Amino acid sequence: MADENIEKVHCLVIGSGPAGYTAAIYAARANLKPVLYQGIQPGGQLTITTEVENYPGYANGVQGPEMMIDFENQAKRMGADIRYGIATKVDFSVQPYKVWIDEEKLIEADAVIISTGASAKWLGLPSEEKFNGFGVSACAVCDGFFFKAKDVAIVGAGDTAAEEALYLSKLCTKVHMIVRRDEMRASKVMQDRVLQTQNIEVHFNTETEEILGDKTVNAVRIKNNKTGEATIIPVGGFFVAIGHQPNSDIFKGQVNMDETGYIITVPGTSKTNVEGVFAAGDVQDKNYRQAVTAAGSGCMAALDAERYLSAKGL
Ligand code: NDP
Repeated sequence: MADENIEKVHCLVIGSGPAGYTAAIYAARANLKPVLYQGIQPGGQLTITTEVENYPGYANGVQGPEMMIDFENQAKRMGADIRYGIATKVDFSVQPYKVWIDEEKLIEADAVIISTGASAKWLGLPSEEKFNGFGVSACAVCDGFFFKAKDVAIVGAGDTAAEEALYLSKLCTKVHMIVRRDEMRASKVMQDRVLQTQNIEVHFNTETEEILGDKTVNAVRIKNNKTGEATIIPVGGFFVAIGHQPNSDIFKGQVNMDETGYIITVPGTSKTNVEGVFAAGDVQDKNYRQAVTAAGSGCMAALDAERYLSAKGL
């Protein structure tokens, strides 16, 4: 690669959700001169939600995309260098660590903070995309409140779907849980809780055909895959809880991950198994997945990076 396409960076942040921007804010204030590459979806998952009411500090709530612009502006004001670009390949085998951007620029970094997030899996129906943010959501904790005292549906049968169905059952009048097989994948204890909750109706052997509505969702058409019978159920909200996919493909073989691709960090820190490479936010967290927990872990990563760099004299 030509010399002009190689750049030396002290602290590189990959990804631009709450974790990445918070890491950039703290790293900039610690004079680490962070460079942040935003990735495919600048602002991350919050840019595809509507109102955020549970992020502390926004007393009147805030739109997800607007909040991420606030994060970005704050990081810029602190002096972080925020750039549009996608990390396509990394080599963490020797210092300085190499990260290729858009396959045309090579960054050599003393410390790297990975905050590439995770993506919700979707069913892939056109109507699901059409109503995303208008009655369709992949996060009951984020959006359940908007469906208070309404009927809703949730698709999925793992622990997340069970947990979210229970969460929704406390807010909504009725929860229709759509399960594609004749049994749930969720742990026994969660299954029992779901089945014992009066206002959750589980539809086994059932698939979602279409989400119906005008400007927002007002019903869902489901089909029993054993009998072929289709039914329309009136609902105000439709939740998808069929799993998440950490955005960690380019780090495979470079840092340790669990079998589902989540980066493993040393508990209570942001440290990966590679010295000087840290991970924050949803790419290393399959449990909490909240903006505020991601931001907190971004702060941890910047502090860990700062300590690492000063201990190494870099
Ligand atoms: P899982 O992969 O465990 O479950 C996904 C569920 O979605 C499965 O039931 C699957 O059905 C269903 N599904 C997948 N694709 C479709 C589709 N196209 N249409 C309909 N249904 C579909 O994901 P989770 O997010 O639930 O959990 C991820 C991991 O996190 C698990 O290990 C889980 O145990 C853990 N977890 C633990 C929690 C806790 O301990 N409190 C809370 C939340 C998660 P099928 O079963 O037919 O494949």
